[in-house]
Amino acid sequence: MNSSWLQKAIGYINKDTSEQNESPKLIVVIRILVLSMLFYIIINSIIYVSILNNIGIAILFASFLIFLAIFLMSYHVHTTRVVYTLALCMSAWIVVNIVYFGWDVGVQHFILVMLILSFFSGYSQYTFKAFTAAVLCCFRIYLFFLCQSREPAVILTPIMTNSLQIINTLMIFWCISVIAYVFSKDSQALEGKLIDYNNLLQDQANTDALTGLYNRRKAMQYLEELLTPSNHDFTSICICDIDFFKKVNDNYGHDVGDIVLQNLADIMTTTLEKNILAARWGGEEFLLVFSGYNGDEAYAKLETLRNNIKSLEFKAKEQTFSITMTFGLAEYDFSSDIDTIIKEADEKLYMGKENGRDQIVF
Ligand code: GH3
Ligand code: MG
Ligand code: MG
Repeated sequence: MNSSWLQKAIGYINKDTSEQNESPKLIVVIRILVLSMLFYIIINSIIYVSILNNIGIAILFASFLIFLAIFLMSYHVHTTRVVYTLALCMSAWIVVNIVYFGWDVGVQHFILVMLILSFFSGYSQYTFKAFTAAVLCCFRIYLFFLCQSREPAVILTPIMTNSLQIINTLMIFWCISVIAYVFSKDSQALEGKLIDYNNLLQDQANTDALTGLYNRRKAMQYLEELLTPSNHDFTSICICDIDFFKKVNDNYGHDVGDIVLQNLADIMTTTLEKNILAARWGGEEFLLVFSGYNGDEAYAKLETLRNNIKSLEFKAKEQTFSITMTFGLAEYDFSSDIDTIIKEADEKLYMGKENGRDQIVF
């Protein structure tokens, strides 16, 4: 029962704006602020009713009615108009309170609430926001000198001044927190989404869509980062190519060829350790980078991979077939550039093709 009542109240506060192209969060913030002001006025009325004269009671009553009117306005009027009305009424309310209770109760700090609201609300130019900030600053300085030149209408006891100061401080912190929370929550969520999206784009830019392996671009970047003069560890590089792959496409179709490429990528990632990079170099060629492996160690790994690939069975057009690959392996000599070592691996691959395929040339 209670929760449904609460849900109705939340729903009412969250109710959409009357017109399109308006920020729903701004109007929700304004409603919360105005409701808070109404609550604040009720509390103040209860505490100070005994010391207020008729003018004081009239001020409280009028303030309550004005903020209530702004709250109701938010359901029928364009948000920008509600913001301006709130700013005007709030300014007038601050002046009246300061004239009535004096500077020490701290009502002037509500100007900061207006300042924060002006920066978060609307999509107006920063020059306009800077102008608003300057106006609010002048307004605050003016109020200070206004208070210097005249006594407050009501002289409060120190206890009352202090308790009003505390209530006002609580209220101002609450209002600023509400504004900052609602608007920063959104921008933080948006920032998070942007970071996720950026990571996704980066992954897509580095990944080959068919096989899910790194693409040539990422492989080159990896090599550039790996083969630096400060790296004194062994590195071996292999370029491998499917034997007679054209026949697979010709006999079973391009789609089956694609499945073969995907299966090959899978067997490479499952056979080779995580620290061995496998990338699609292009077409039916792959690049393998063995970081921390000398040529002999890489050769042993490749031998296992070559056998695993050979034992893969594919079914298409009611036939079973298997494929082989030829590998060109080169060990980094700690001085050549990347293109030279890749060229060496490529030449060895070519030698393997010449020598009958299905082999590793080192
Ligand atoms: P070799 O043993 O000399 O390497 O013979 P091969 O038939 O593998 O060599 P060739 O370069 O003549 O043919 C490579 C084929 O790979 C041709 C091309 O259509 C095919 N290919 C390249 N990329 C893809 C792809 O993404 N999907 C499919 N299905 N085929 C591809
Ligand atoms: Mg080939
Ligand atoms: Mg080829």
